[in-house]
Amino acid sequence: MEFFLKIQAINGFKDILPDSVGRWQLIEQRARAIFERFGLQEIRMPILERTELFVRSIGSATDVVEKEMYTFADKGITMRPEATASIMRAFIEHGLHVQQPVQRLYTIGPMFRHERPQKGRLRQFHQLDAEIIGAVEPRVDAELIAMGQMLLDELGLTVSLELNSLGCPQCRPPFKAALVAYLEQVITGLCEDCKRRTHTNPLRVLDCKKPTCRALVQEAPSILAALCPECDHHFREVQGALEALQIPFRLNRFMVRGLDYYTRTTFEFLTADLGAQAAVGAGGRYDGLIETLGGPALSGIGFAMGLERIALLMEQQQDQPRIGASMDIFLAALGSEALAPCSLLAHSLRKDGVKTAIDYSGRSLKAQLKQAGRVNARFTLIVGDEEWTQRQGILRNMRTQEQQPFALAGTPAEQSHQLRYLLETAAS
Ligand code: ATP
Ligand code: MG
Repeated sequence: MEFFLKIQAINGFKDILPDSVGRWQLIEQRARAIFERFGLQEIRMPILERTELFVRSIGSATDVVEKEMYTFADKGITMRPEATASIMRAFIEHGLHVQQPVQRLYTIGPMFRHERPQKGRLRQFHQLDAEIIGAVEPRVDAELIAMGQMLLDELGLTVSLELNSLGCPQCRPPFKAALVAYLEQVITGLCEDCKRRTHTNPLRVLDCKKPTCRALVQEAPSILAALCPECDHHFREVQGALEALQIPFRLNRFMVRGLDYYTRTTFEFLTADLGAQAAVGAGGRYDGLIETLGGPALSGIGFAMGLERIALLMEQQQDQPRIGASMDIFLAALGSEALAPCSLLAHSLRKDGVKTAIDYSGRSLKAQLKQAGRVNARFTLIVGDEEWTQRQGILRNMRTQEQQPFALAGTPAEQSHQLRYLLETAAS
């Protein structure tokens, strides 16, 4: 006898089983509906891109590029760790702005990062990603943030919104220099990562999660005090627009996004309910990105939300929306004669849009009714050989257990129309 070892999924890669898929579909449907209300159109990009795309956009000194990417080094390609860079690549490649100067796009799909797997942190995870490209007005920042907030609200999630500005190529370099000067004074107290970051990516030190680093940066210079007049004005307008929309937020000058391309407005939607994985979604403005990737000088703003984290939060809720598969009708064919007409009827019902289950095994009525309960059928049509001879089935309401005769007259299509009518009237 040969002995086969069980093959399991890779660490950090997870199946989404039928039991939870309903929740995923609900999130995706709500997201699509809301994004479309704001005029966003869907775009789908490949999962593999040239490594250079991510190095140039996300930045070579970021955690994502330094240590989290799945790269096929011999082929120079990488599995996308996020969606914005790919969207910008597609946007430039197809000259999308030529037809429509302001592009509003969204995408939903898997991303890949080699991180330490834990609750709410996977190596293949999924994002809802929304982008508005080609608009500079601060009201657009507020509109996009409001869209994210609306989605989380409609999903029944409580989050807090934090806001910061990272300035622009005018005001960031002098701020960076002042920050480095400060960090050099306290460098011995910083963690190993932050000691290194002080010279490779000093802004990242500001949002290190280690308590010792956090304490040390409290006295660091503030980016919000260092913004140039244009960035300062933009940031104030964003805040004013959010206030007008009655979207509460908190300023957090320590929030620095992990991707280098951000400029000006950055934001995060945070939860207190997922332990260390506090960010449900995050985003910001990326005014120089498209140019850096060889495209026109257009600005943009976007966010990404983690589907796993949203799904986890919804799972933890007290009154979750009832999701789960259910069937409209179960056909219980009880004899060899009844099986053939029942399978034709099942096919016609499905053509007519009725969710139909059928059991071909010829098991007992008791076993089939049990099966009907398992698939959550609203009705069961019982057809034994004798019923079929008399063209008279029994329709059973699975909730009330009431039964009524059902005449199996005419063609399967005619039977199906009749049955569908009965099911619809029973529902109302
Ligand atoms: P974190 O601080 O949690 O690492 P991040 O800043 O790296 O998040 P982004 O790159 O901004 O995250 O991605 C946006 C959203 O995608 C996050 O807010 C989170 O919900 C989700 N996300 C990011 N990385 C993962 C991951 N490894 N597993 C699951 N979800 C993730
Ligand atoms: Mg991360």
